[in-house]
Amino acid sequence: MSEKRQLEEVLDGAVQTFIANAQRELHTRWDTWPRTFERNHVFEVLGALLARQVTLACQVAASPQMWEPHSGPIFMRAMADVHITVAWILLAPDDRAQKFIHHGLGQAKLEVEHRRAELADGRTPKPGEAELLKARERWIDGQRLMFLTSVNLGAWSGINTRQMAEEAGCLDFYNYVYVPFSGCAHSMWHHVGVFNLQRCSNPLHGLHSVPVLPDFETVGGDPHTLYLAGKYLDKTCRAIDGVFSGPAEPVNAFDNLCYALDDVYRLAQELR
Ligand SMILES: [Zn+2]
Repeated sequence: MSEKRQLEEVLDGAVQTFIANAQRELHTRWDTWPRTFERNHVFEVLGALLARQVTLACQVAASPQMWEPHSGPIFMRAMADVHITVAWILLAPDDRAQKFIHHGLGQAKLEVEHRRAELADGRTPKPGEAELLKARERWIDGQRLMFLTSVNLGAWSGINTRQMAEEAGCLDFYNYVYVPFSGCAHSMWHHVGVFNLQRCSNPLHGLHSVPVLPDFETVGGDPHTLYLAGKYLDKTCRAIDGVFSGPAEPVNAFDNLCYALDDVYRLAQELR
């Protein structure tokens, strides 16, 4: 077997094990949480957000072409968002989980109303659009009578993400993870100026820069992105365990990933 192939196999093993463990992080917690009828909404929100975190982590793990600075950070920023949301909800789960749901329902209602207004204005519906709108309304109605759903146009929490992070005691995480990855997620100058420009080779052009595309042949493949996905998933799991009892038989997908990545790096050194 070629050395490159050998390394790929070890890394692929680490990825598959991480994906299986990450999924167990969700299921073992869901089975352990003290769920009661009155608190269904709390565990629906936390369960959905943790499932979202596992989904994002697994998608990153399964897509080595994303282990690079162009698209990887978009996922990292989304994971940072999930973490701060969860950490803030955990400070007052009953009230804040309800706020989170109501805001989402309000947004969904607004979306339906925009589309209805467009159709009332004479736009021809696309195939299946009417059914889609009805299904969306049923989803909203099933949770709260639609006429009671108020539309709140501000942030769902009433404060911005920085304030949420500060209240939840994770301002460092906001400063060093959420903000830096936002540059990529929002395609801001400090991202595109670094990753999508390069200095023109003609000195007579006055040192301007020209747009550049990543080399798609070689992009990807730095397992550090996978490491970060595991780390942020772990952070969210620990935050929830700090409030609701953790699983009886913990999995710890992140610890296992760290050991596996150690093996990968060691092998890479040996093969060098
Ligand atoms: Zn030039």
